[in-house]
Amino acid sequence: MDHTYLHDRDSFCDNKSNYDVVNVGFGPAGIALACVQEDAKENNSSPQDIKMLHLEKSDDTVWHGELLLSGTDINHSVFRDLVTPRNPRSRFSFAMYLKDKNRMFDFGLLSRPASRHEWSDYIRWVSSQVDKNTLFSTPAKEILPVVEGGELHGLKVVTEHDTYLTKNIVLSSGSQPHIPDKFLPYLGERVFHTSHFLSCLKRFGEALPARWLVLGSGQSASESVIELLKRREDITLHSVHRSPGFRLTQLGHFPNRVFSPEHVDYFHQLDNVSRRKFLEWSNATNYAGIDPDESQTLFSFVYEDRICGRERLLIRPYSEVVDVRQSDNGYKITLADIFSGKEEIIEVDVIVLATGYQQARIPALLTQLQPWLAQDQDGGLLIERNYRVALRETKGVNIYVNGLSERSHGISDSQSFSLMALRAEKIMKSLPGSREEN
Ligand SMILES: Cc1cc2nc3c(=O)[nH]c(=O)nc-3n(C[C@H](O)[C@H](O)[C@H](O)COP(=O)(O)OP(=O)(O)OC[C@H]3O[C@@H](n4cnc5c(N)ncnc54)[C@H](O)[C@@H]3O)c2cc1C
Repeated sequence: MDHTYLHDRDSFCDNKSNYDVVNVGFGPAGIALACVQEDAKENNSSPQDIKMLHLEKSDDTVWHGELLLSGTDINHSVFRDLVTPRNPRSRFSFAMYLKDKNRMFDFGLLSRPASRHEWSDYIRWVSSQVDKNTLFSTPAKEILPVVEGGELHGLKVVTEHDTYLTKNIVLSSGSQPHIPDKFLPYLGERVFHTSHFLSCLKRFGEALPARWLVLGSGQSASESVIELLKRREDITLHSVHRSPGFRLTQLGHFPNRVFSPEHVDYFHQLDNVSRRKFLEWSNATNYAGIDPDESQTLFSFVYEDRICGRERLLIRPYSEVVDVRQSDNGYKITLADIFSGKEEIIEVDVIVLATGYQQARIPALLTQLQPWLAQDQDGGLLIERNYRVALRETKGVNIYVNGLSERSHGISDSQSFSLMALRAEKIMKSLPGSREEN
């Protein structure tokens, strides 16, 4: 459904200067902000009065639709939904969703995490109840400064058709796909990041090519590999890893406490060098591994093929891609063993980059504001504990990041649901106009 038409566009555009806050991105993090405000209206508490506009690039709410594959599930507790850690009584909880859908008892019998399909449906269910101030199909193209006497007095959020003038923005625009430089010249229908996975497969129709390379060792890599093996019986798939192959994610109870609010306090007060070390260590709890059931599926696949005398999934350990060239029949890839340096050339038809996501030191949307952004010694944003970006020479302007603060707040505050609800509350309550502003 295209939500653009659900709203009277003119009613937004009449008041282009009249928004207290413009939020960019209405994915889970942006929706969590809207939930804080809706809950506040019900409780007659702060920050119900703030006039906020949400801009969303997509035409609908789907949670990572390009990897919405059957058999995948969420890797966090359903209690870490858009609201429960902040307000277990909120009507936007996963429990309320189950109740509304009449699946409460059957969900309890599942004895497994919610599937990604169900979680995406939950996010859409919430979104549809809190999106009345949201313009879908409206990407923010750039944010420009309004300057008086060298001071930053306001911000202009530019979309294709309109410009919104405000003093406060929140960036809830998510992390960006990481594409290793070598592959940039070839990006397209046959060389793509997993953030385009299903659309690209769809373009091949029934005739999926035979020879594939999937680069990466994390969850998106394992899920793409499993999906491709399901889709073509006689596939040849090179799964390329610097490590010995797919590793298990860190599932220990104690290490996974990095996803708690106390750890954010701890992380935020560290210096930059220590933060980097801490992040490197905590990666194993999220990005660097896969679930035991996926590891079992992949290992069994290789094992069963050996019984039949065939090899469709070739795990390439200790390998890195050192060269990529287009050939008459596809792409010639040079793999080098990271220890011995020995090289091998393979040829494939399609390359899938399961190379994860990254957060720029300065988000692209803030490029034009650089003279007013205070920066840390690494050239990144200085982000306060309440997610406000430190600024220089400004008058009443505030920029908040909602999910773009991995470097300053740690792993749980970026690519995870764990602290989304509490972060949304912190941001909403510190916005000017909130009665609890600090
Ligand atoms: C395949 C996959 C599975 C995952 N599974 C889990 C999981 O199980 N548990 C977990 O905790 N985390 C998981 N994650 C991490 C994930 O980042 C978070 O779950 C969550 O999606 C983060 O929400 P977000 O709103 O910050 O970012 P996103 O989900 O990326 O949403 C950002 C939104 O901003 C919009 N946007 C971007 N730029 C603009 C612009 N210029 N103008 C307007 N709109 C814009 C986008 O269209 C999007 O809707 C997963 C990530 C992936 C890729």
